[in-house]
Order: sequence, then structure tokens, then C-alpha cells
Amino acid sequence: MRNLILLVIAFSFIACNGNSQNNSTSTQKPKSTMSDKVVKTEEEWKKILNPEQYQVLREKGTEMPFSGKYYLHKEKGIYVCAACGAELFRSDTKFDAGCGWPSFSDVVDSTKVVYTKDTSHGMVRTEITCAKCGGHLGHVFDDGPAPTGLRYCINSVSIDFKK
Ligand code: FE
Repeated sequence: MRNLILLVIAFSFIACNGNSQNNSTSTQKPKSTMSDKVVKTEEEWKKILNPEQYQVLREKGTEMPFSGKYYLHKEKGIYVCAACGAELFRSDTKFDAGCGWPSFSDVVDSTKVVYTKDTSHGMVRTEITCAKCGGHLGHVFDDGPAPTGLRYCINSVSIDFKK
């Protein structure tokens, strides 16, 4: 009987948490699940993104250095994915790396991006993509400032700024 009661409590807990994503009073942040992903066909992306965004985000292009709108941007706020709106970088981690692209020493949290080995163009780099929509953001290098020692080198085209 005691085991049955424990089982009912366990099921109630699971059911409750399963609905918590829509519960505004919940203080727990919902964990990322497959249903959080933004999946679109290339035709759908072409309708949403402008040609430059499509080329960088979907075809792993790179904007010209020193050309991006956020390279020298210094306002306080948060940078989100230009394709899906996922929060990616905070302004307080942005620094001038002198490389011509917006640079950040950290991500909002490591689950927001996916790290992939990239051996294109005769280099070995780590590509950064948005975990939510798969959009190409840029690359991460290990020559950044303390405390992370990382430099997330990101295309302005791939991000939007929110105050
Ligand atoms: Fe995204």
C-alpha cells in the first residue's frame, strides 16, 4: 500500500512538471527539449531571413570583418539569435578583440550553443551554432580574456540586440 502511494506521488510530480512550462507561477526554468527546437525547411528560412542572413546562418558564411553592425556596439543588453530569438550573449561579456567581429568571452549558458569541429579553409576551428535553430553563429577560440579564456567570434548578421 505504501509503495502504491509513493507511486501515485511520483506520477503526480512528473505530470505537474510536465505542465510547468505553461505555468507562469513556476520558478523552475523549463529544460531544453526537442520540442524547443526550431525546425524549418530551407525554403521557409529563405522567406524569414534576408539574403545576407541566409548566407551566414544557413550556409555558414562569414560577414566581412569590421563591417558588421555590432562590431563596435557597446549598449547594455542581450544578443539573441537573429533567426530564432534564442538568448545567446550578454553585453557584459563583449570585448574588443580587434578581429573585426563582435567578440564575447562567454555564452549566456553553454546549452544555448552547439560546438562542432570545423576543418574548412585549411584550418581547425570550433564552429558555434545556435542550439535552438541550428543557425551558424561563428567560431570560438581559446585566446580570449579571463576568466573563461575564450573568444566567441560572432557574425553581426547572426545576432540581434535587445536592451
Ligand atoms: Fe537560433
